[in-house]
Amino acid sequence: VSADRQIAPSLPVELAIVGAGPTGTSFLERLTANLPCVAPGLPVRIHLVDPFPAGQGRIWRHEQTPLLWMNSMAEDVTMFTDDSVVCEGPIRPGPTLLEWAESRRGSPLATPELTAELAALEGPTFPSRRIQSAYLAAVLERVLGDLPPGTEVRTHRAAAIALDHTADGRQRLTLDDGTALAVDVVVLALGHADTDGFDDELAGFADRHRLVHVPPALTADIDLDVVPGGEPVILRGLGLAFIDIVVMLTEGRGGRFEPSGDGALRYIPSGREPILHIGSRRGVPYHSKTTYRLVGGAPLLPRFFDAAAVDDLLERHDRLDFRAHVWPLLAKEICWGYYQELFRGHPDRVTMPFAEFAERYAVVDHASPDMEALIESAVPVLEDHIDLAAIDRPLAGLRFDDASAVHEHVRRYIAADVARRSDRRYSADLGAFMALLSSFGQLPRLIASGKLDVRSRVEHLDGWWFGFFNFIASGPPPARLRQILALADAGIVRFQGAGQWVRADEHAGRFVAGSTSCDDVVHARALVEARNQRPSIARTANPLVRHLRDRGGIVEDVLADPTSGFRHATGKISVTSDALRLVDARGDAHPRRFALGAPTNRPAAGAFARPRTNAPSFRQNDAVARAVIGELCDASEASKRSRAAS
Ligand SMILES: Cc1cc2nc3c(=O)[nH]c(=O)nc-3n(C[C@H](O)[C@H](O)[C@H](O)COP(=O)(O)OP(=O)(O)OC[C@H]3O[C@@H](n4cnc5c(N)ncnc54)[C@H](O)[C@@H]3O)c2cc1C
Repeated sequence: VSADRQIAPSLPVELAIVGAGPTGTSFLERLTANLPCVAPGLPVRIHLVDPFPAGQGRIWRHEQTPLLWMNSMAEDVTMFTDDSVVCEGPIRPGPTLLEWAESRRGSPLATPELTAELAALEGPTFPSRRIQSAYLAAVLERVLGDLPPGTEVRTHRAAAIALDHTADGRQRLTLDDGTALAVDVVVLALGHADTDGFDDELAGFADRHRLVHVPPALTADIDLDVVPGGEPVILRGLGLAFIDIVVMLTEGRGGRFEPSGDGALRYIPSGREPILHIGSRRGVPYHSKTTYRLVGGAPLLPRFFDAAAVDDLLERHDRLDFRAHVWPLLAKEICWGYYQELFRGHPDRVTMPFAEFAERYAVVDHASPDMEALIESAVPVLEDHIDLAAIDRPLAGLRFDDASAVHEHVRRYIAADVARRSDRRYSADLGAFMALLSSFGQLPRLIASGKLDVRSRVEHLDGWWFGFFNFIASGPPPARLRQILALADAGIVRFQGAGQWVRADEHAGRFVAGSTSCDDVVHARALVEARNQRPSIARTANPLVRHLRDRGGIVEDVLADPTSGFRHATGKISVTSDALRLVDARGDAHPRRFALGAPTNRPAAGAFARPRTNAPSFRQNDAVARAVIGELCDASEASKRSRAAS
């Protein structure tokens, strides 16, 4: 026992984690794993603040429709570090979603349906969100059951609405139930933010004409009861929100799917469904997830867009353009992932030994005549070639006679996609996907170098590239697309095509929507925005973010190019690159305020960690946890000194 402690025994230092969804929970795990190593015996009181159940948070709460599914396979989700994770803190293994499910088989969950789902759950299953909710609750329980001595966790089912400095150098976190917490350090893990004022013009039009306009929102929170049944409704967006919304407007209204042979489905309507006219910029849904594994074994990736390639780019160029300098390497990597799997997994479909192909592929540029000649001679069937431009914009340049022709074309496109993505003869597609994922290892360094032209970063990397990535890699399970096809056959889903536009027809008092794929348009009394909200600090609906923004405690990340004058506000919370400290309006980093996750300009990932992948979110949470512990130690020392002095 130190002399200090004899004079003034330690009072606990206090930390508030605002937002107790997966990120807040994962951070708590890293914090409590690190505490005994970095600050053994330090008494810490942790406040977990969230109006939704801690562990699950808003997106993964149990109280939501059971119809919504995860977009990940059970075997691809974990909340615990494993020995692939390279971080300073201790590795504390725990069950993946699949392992947890296997360990719980036979024990009842909240409802008989969930218990039955758990019993049938396998690695490639896409579980319901409620299963993930139960897993996340179990994760928090395990973390709380494993707290180091001297650590206490208190949960508060309330929203934080204000954060202020106090005279004694601490901070006061005010909650909407009237509680005021005096804390030393605050970590924000606020997740996807709501924004106000989406498309005021269309919303105003809807108000004036008593129409229905459903703005973008988290699907579990959307009120779709306002959407009329039995008449045309326009849906804008074909990403993941589209799947959730369509399910809620069909199965959620009492319809059901039944097998119709050959793995296809038939939809039996309830009669309360709207007729959904759906489109987007691309005009087709995201690609189906694959359900098979690689045939040719573990791929050797990355090969062309690796650390050495980035070194070389940075050495040769003062200024990098994503499309001109980075994309050719990335594209070569993606195609390499594809052909590697084709050659190793399906040698009967190629004319050359893999070693020879690999040697020749390495020395030709992406999309060059030499590359094309090599592929033509090595892969005889055109269907086995990968064409990234055609994948990216499948309806580009196509015009159709009428809306029915567009619909039929998109319907066939989806059916072909589902068939291909469920057939391991096309496992080369998974090879391309693996290469796509591997690229994320290099992109942060490229961004951090400061050499990427700002406009190119905004338009090409953050804009086009991430959209392309999501289109290929973040699509729905094939079973969902089979449901969409059944709804198309039942006349409930109608595809409008690419370049979808929506306008207010003041004369008719209706929304009108069309596309660049044909001349036909549709009029409707209801418009549903089937897409995520764009982040915005200026328009945030989060009371805490608003409070901090108005006092200069939070600023929006702005990407600016002093040479060209180009500026782009990303809508994200500015944090420092080292320990994710909040940056204030003066540009200073607050030593005791941290922020993690999607709403910041340094998100580790947009999805759950996959087991055995050295997931960036674990590494980031670990580093921030250690910085937070450093601040807690300083706060403890300062408090001891001031009490000793008084
Ligand atoms: C609809 C949807 C589905 C998804 N599906 C998948 C999937 O299947 N697989 C996958 O890998 N990823 C998926 N994701 C990605 C998603 O980012 C992560 O799964 C995960 O939810 C992110 O966790 P988080 O804790 O950062 O954010 P959230 O889950 O949003 O949690 C943040 C928490 O902060 C709380 N909060 C916010 N403000 C305050 C405040 N002022 N006071 C107190 N609490 C506050 C919220 O209530 C919320 O509980 C999905 C995302 C969305 C939006």
